[in-house]
Amino acid sequence: MRLGVDLGGTKIEIIALDDTGCELLRRRVPSPKGDYAATLQAIAALVSEAEAELGQRGSLGIGTPGAISRATGRIKNSNSTHLIGQPIVQDLEALLQRPIKISNDANCFALSEATDGAAAGAEVVFGVILGTGVGAGIVVNGHILTGPNGIAGEWGHNPLPWPEPHELPGPLCYCGKHGCIETFLSGPGMAKLHQRETGESLNPEEIVQRAGQGDAACERSLQAYEHRLARSLAHVINILDPDIIVLGGGMSNIERLYANVPKLWGRWVFSDRVDTRLVKHGFGDSSGVRGAAWL
Ligand SMILES: [Zn+2]
Repeated sequence: MRLGVDLGGTKIEIIALDDTGCELLRRRVPSPKGDYAATLQAIAALVSEAEAELGQRGSLGIGTPGAISRATGRIKNSNSTHLIGQPIVQDLEALLQRPIKISNDANCFALSEATDGAAAGAEVVFGVILGTGVGAGIVVNGHILTGPNGIAGEWGHNPLPWPEPHELPGPLCYCGKHGCIETFLSGPGMAKLHQRETGESLNPEEIVQRAGQGDAACERSLQAYEHRLARSLAHVINILDPDIIVLGGGMSNIERLYANVPKLWGRWVFSDRVDTRLVKHGFGDSSGVRGAAWL
């Protein structure tokens, strides 16, 4: 049995999978706010309860925003700031008496989709989360590529490639730079840019819906989004040349992206043809916790 825990800022979720990926159990509890010791206890309780209920012991993987520093073994880059600098793997291994694997949520998403989701069977997978933030993970032959800095795939804070004059210098990002891909392709980023262009305050779902009803301003915003996503992914294709790109996160539910973006990206991919596939996630919000179990 494989246990996966998705440790997020608002909730901690556990899943139990059998060897075929069949879900045996799933639970979630609110994340203890700003309290590291209580977070450890909450994870330990979820694991103990799941094992008691299922009558077996499992391996354990954890997915969380941020990364584990290879140099220190501690969490860095997390938006749950009370986790930063904590030796979480060591502490949980002591509490739960087993080896524990940990990876960031974008890597878990990519691994889940590469294992038995929308990218099953593909050799090189680029798994992208387009949500409140933008991140990505890379899976090669079923294994997450992490890298010495633990940041492989983190292209959300690269600058938007092939920018047009009106896109420069680009919105200010929380990371301190201007024009990061995340400021254009996240859900809040799209909403802010639409407001700047039109004065209308709409969320991405409303923009998509109104574009579908023929609203010209919303259609322009959506086309700009598709154009920017095509450029951002063309940049990745030129470096990594993945077999498949899987989209997750709230913005991945915009169905027209899968037809429109591959029609655009050939302009920037350095190849006579582009055979890369762009697909929607297979497991949606469940991919983070499922990927943790596959770690
Ligand atoms: Zn940034």
